[in-house]
Formats: sequence, C-alpha cells, structure tokens
Amino acid sequence: MNNKLNPFDEVKKQIDIASEKIGLNADVTEQLKHPRSILTVSVPIRMDIGDVRIFTGYRVQYNMWRGPYKGGLRYHPIVDLDEVKALAAWMTFKTCIVNIPYGGAKGGIVCDPKAMSIKELERMTRRYTSMIIDGIGPFKDVPAPDVGTDSQTMAWIMDTYSLIKGYSIPEVVTGKPISLGGSEGREEATGRGVALCVRKAAEKIGLKLRGSKVAVQGYGNVGYWSAKTLSEMGCKIIAVNDTKGCIVDKSGIDPDVANEFKRKTGSVYGLEGCESIPIDDIFELDCDIFIPAALENVITEKNYDRIKAKIVSEGANGPTTQKADQALFEKGVFVIPDILANAGGVTVSYFEWTQNLNRDHWTLETVNKRLEERMEGAFNKVYDSAKKYEESMRTAAYFLALKRLEEAHLNRGLFP
Ligand code: NAD
Repeated sequence: MNNKLNPFDEVKKQIDIASEKIGLNADVTEQLKHPRSILTVSVPIRMDIGDVRIFTGYRVQYNMWRGPYKGGLRYHPIVDLDEVKALAAWMTFKTCIVNIPYGGAKGGIVCDPKAMSIKELERMTRRYTSMIIDGIGPFKDVPAPDVGTDSQTMAWIMDTYSLIKGYSIPEVVTGKPISLGGSEGREEATGRGVALCVRKAAEKIGLKLRGSKVAVQGYGNVGYWSAKTLSEMGCKIIAVNDTKGCIVDKSGIDPDVANEFKRKTGSVYGLEGCESIPIDDIFELDCDIFIPAALENVITEKNYDRIKAKIVSEGANGPTTQKADQALFEKGVFVIPDILANAGGVTVSYFEWTQNLNRDHWTLETVNKRLEERMEGAFNKVYDSAKKYEESMRTAAYFLALKRLEEAHLNRGLFP
C-alpha cells in the first residue's frame, strides 16, 4: 500500500478538476477545499494494567450546507488528520450523490483496537464522546461506524451521550444494535450498495453476473457483505485478502465460510482448500470484478496496469489515486467511485435516523427496497452524466455532488 500519498491532497485535486470542468462558482470551490471545523482531543485512558495512556482523537466537521454533519468514526493505528479530513470531505460528496439531507464529517482515534481489551475500548469510546459532546447531536453531527468500530461502539456513544443529556437519544448515532434503535439491514448496507452498483455496471457493459469472477481486497464488514451479495447474484468469489494474507480458490470461496473462519481465527488466511498467495497479488488476478474494501491509496500509478478486472467497485473510501483513476478510465475499466459505490451505508444510516426520530421500525424488505431505489437512482444519474460529458464515473459523480452543494450554498448565501 502506498501510504505516502496524502489523501486530502487527492480530494483537493478531484475538487479542482471537476470544478473547472463544470465552471463551478469559484467561492464554492474554495470553501469546499477547507473543513468547517477540526477538533483534536487527547483522550486519557486507564489501561487494564493500571497505567494511563493518552490517545489522540479527531472530529472533522467538513460541510453542513445541506444538513447536519454525518460521518463515521475510525479506530486505527495509522489514522491521521489529513486522512480524517479526506474522509470527511468524501462524506460531504457522498450524501449529495444519494441526495440525503446531510453534510459530511468524520472522526478517528489513533489506536490499535485489536491490541486493546473490550473494557479499554469502552473507556476510550466513552471518554472521547464526553470530550466531543458539544459538537455532536441528532441535528448537529451524527457519528456512525467505520474501520475498527462497530455497533457496540455506537451503543457506548449513544449511552454516554444520553446519560450526560439526561434522557435517551438514539438518533445521535447510527449503526446501533437493533435493540437500541438500529435499523434492519444497516450492517450489510454498504456491501449491498457496492454489489447493486456492480449489477448496474455489468448491465451497461454486457457482462453476465452468473459465473463472473470476483476478487475482494479487505475482508471486513464491507468486503464480506459485498462478496456475499455478489455471490447471491451468481458471481464466483475467487480471492479475498486481509492484513494477514490472501487466499485463492478458482472454483469459488463460500463468503460465509470465509467469514466464519475469520471470526474464529482473526483472518481469512489459512482457510482450508484455498491456495495462499502474497497479499498484493490480489491486484493482478484474472477476475471480472475487483472490490477494494480496505483503506486509501491502494490503486496507484504503480499498480493500476496490473488490474485485469472489467469493473472496479470501490467499497473502501479513496482506494484509487486521481492519476490511476484517469489511467483506468482510458484503459476502459468501469470504475464505480467510492462516493457512489459505498454510499449504501450512509443511506441506511439516514433511514435509521429517520426511523429513530419517528420512533418507528421498518422491515428489512422496506429498508432493502428503499436502498435499492436510492442506489440505482444515483447510479443512473451519474452514469448518464458520464456518458453525456464523456467523462469517468468519478468525475461525473463529482459534477453531481458539486452542483448540489453549489445550489444549496447559493440559496443559503454567505453569512454575514
Ligand atoms: P473493517 O475494519 O470491517 O474491514 C477492513 C478490512 O480490511 C479488515 O479485514 C482488514 O484486515 C483489511 N485490511 C486492512 N488493510 C489491508 C490491506 N493493506 N490489504 C488487505 N486487507 C487489508 O472496515 P469496513 O467497515 O469494512 O471498512 C472498509 C472500508 O470501507 C474503509 O475504507 C471504510 O472507510 C469504507 N466504508 C465503510 C463503510 C461501513 O459502513 N462500514 C461505509 C462506507 C465506506
């Protein structure tokens, strides 16, 4: 992985390129290259062995022209401020693409959750929540899970926030357990959205999904649910990897078996019946569909030409650098950009928030039907614009997002 590239620089390049092409209002372009506010906190935690350690946490609130700030919380050892700024910017564009009334934000704590006990994680989450409490709220900023966090983390945030405010406020976070107001279908929503976009792209290029070969980089929440949904659509999952290694089985890997193996052992690596190959060889496998579902900047100028897939659907945020994206477009690879492909998660987060505000609970069928409508509608809009302007899907997605942001801003005006 190329960690030297600064993901926030990549975002700014993408904004500049798309803004210039559509002649976006210059004041809007300039504002969109700056986060509205950045909060950095030093979170002191008593570790199980008795000493106190300080963890650095961030909350970046990027933009709120179209609604409350919205975005996940990441626990990872290489979280840094530029990464959180980039992720917060992408959230701003993503909520525009699926046309939900939110802005964009992101949080992160520099820590290694795999090396911490559940009690340490709980203390860290609660203390972090108390330190950012004035900035979050159901109509201010609504966090959600991301890499290294899950529904349990959201339950601790919801509980801490509610206890401090004095009453139960489930709508302050999304991605909660169902028993606390979580939505049916939220856990699988991002991966489902990734797969729904693949289905649309396959239709456009005349690729039959039945029997199509899929490789998934990063077998976590998004990777697993993308693989499972694509497998239900008839695809064959031929390779998956995670930080420990990559496994290949050309006759097809059962996504549930791989997931269960990972749950028990901590990795997909070593799954019986599969061949092991070096982690990064996943990029050059002979497959039809490639799903990057790990972290940023993994498809770069250095490796884009190794990709054989016809469709790349970006489960991860920012997996492809701007130069590699342009090169893939010229090579004829159908890249479905992150701000469209992985927007299923924030879409069902919005459904969860809506249900919470109404003290309602929708069925899984309702959630999935509405998710499909939103994702397919967004895909069609971006695709039509890409065709019309002969641009990549990413550039077309930025056109749509930037235009919606420009309209909101020009209507609101600039205070004072
Ligand atoms: P996760 O922690 O559940 O899974 C991430 C997986 O990636 C892990 O299995 C990890 O081992 C693997 N990984 C990390 N580095 C890797 C590498 N270099 N090579 C191979 N595997 C590697 O996280 P997640 O929630 O699935 O998120 C994955 C990506 O999807 C992130 O970019 C995240 O921002 C994005 N995303 C997540 C959601 C969501 O709803 N969870 C929504 C939108 C976007």
